[in-house]
Amino acid sequence: MIPYGKQEVTQQDIDSVVSVLKSDFLTQGPQVPLFENAIKTAVNCEYALAVNSATSALHIACLALDVGKGDVVWTTPITFVASANCALYCGADVDFVDIDAETYNLSPKLLEQKLKHAKQNNLALPKVVIPVHLCGQPCEMDKIYALGQEYGFAIIEDASHAIGGKYKGKPIGNCEYSDITVFSFHPVKIVTTAEGGVATTNSQKLFQKLELLRSHGITREPELLKNESHGGWYYEQIDLGFNYRMTEMQAALGASQMLRLHDFVARRNELADKYDVLLADLPIIVPKQHVDSYSGRHLYVILLELEKINLSHKEVFEKLRENGVGVNLHYIPVHTQPYYEGLGFSKGQFPLSESYYQGAISIPLFHAMTDAQLSEVVSTLKNILS
Ligand SMILES: *Cc1c(COP(=O)(O)O)cnc(C)c1O
Repeated sequence: MIPYGKQEVTQQDIDSVVSVLKSDFLTQGPQVPLFENAIKTAVNCEYALAVNSATSALHIACLALDVGKGDVVWTTPITFVASANCALYCGADVDFVDIDAETYNLSPKLLEQKLKHAKQNNLALPKVVIPVHLCGQPCEMDKIYALGQEYGFAIIEDASHAIGGKYKGKPIGNCEYSDITVFSFHPVKIVTTAEGGVATTNSQKLFQKLELLRSHGITREPELLKNESHGGWYYEQIDLGFNYRMTEMQAALGASQMLRLHDFVARRNELADKYDVLLADLPIIVPKQHVDSYSGRHLYVILLELEKINLSHKEVFEKLRENGVGVNLHYIPVHTQPYYEGLGFSKGQFPLSESYYQGAISIPLFHAMTDAQLSEVVSTLKNILS
């Protein structure tokens, strides 16, 4: 089976993890800051904080922006559940903005409509909006940022899919149009630390808060202490934090992988470009790229034109798997998940997301994928759809 995504771990990656295992520090040593520096350099931001998952990063990003009970956070239905759950962790409510029909990202136009409607009807405006760069393609951040200025919400970019990509020629994660950006380093993503996430920001205040929340709310920073130090052992808990730390082994793996970021993204783009050409004549829609986007190409999602095909979405999906093509689907609209239906959401609320879900299939795309594997995916698709 050709998988839809797959990590690539080299001997150099393994050697750097093994050397950490033989060192003095398995956690809280020099590797995490080195990995954070690699991210900072790659995305050109002021601060980067590594944690044990992107989910943790989203959680503390919401907390750092003071999301709490009575607040509302808006995101897209076409995302992994974590982009919405993070607001619920803070006691806030979640609502959704439907997607753009071409990029499948949160639609700035529908965001504006929903904001206007909320304002006119005295409904709650969002405290934070979380746009998700689906498949690695950046959202239209200039428009979302302008709306943030107008309506007074903060922005967390969920860039879990998007390390190595660019928006208007500048690296995603530089936070030019957001308060905080979050990356994931789960093995299916572009770069991996096994489990892991990073939050980037240009705000020292937000960074200090994120750092406290990562580690129990405890600090040794002299300027943050409420009382005078009792001695060299002294620390204070000044906030309620968590243990969301990344280990040294994970950070070493990540730093070693980051050396190949450029190759990862270049090869993914090369493969995606080949798909674009080879799939052009099939009854499917290939992913459209916005002019401002240079995507990291985490995923390659095709949309079936079901009215031109004699098979159902499910049948095409199953036939692909039966024929050795390890497809997947990203994502089931979050508001239709039973847990979210329990919160009052229902099918029909976000029709563009729901219609995307009726036809979407993620086909294999990963750095080590060979041209022969790509040809096999293409010919299998052709056979099934013709
Ligand atoms: C993978 C993913 C997450 C969660 O990442 P973890 O590191 O597994 O916690 C969040 N949002 C999106 C869009 C993702 O794809």
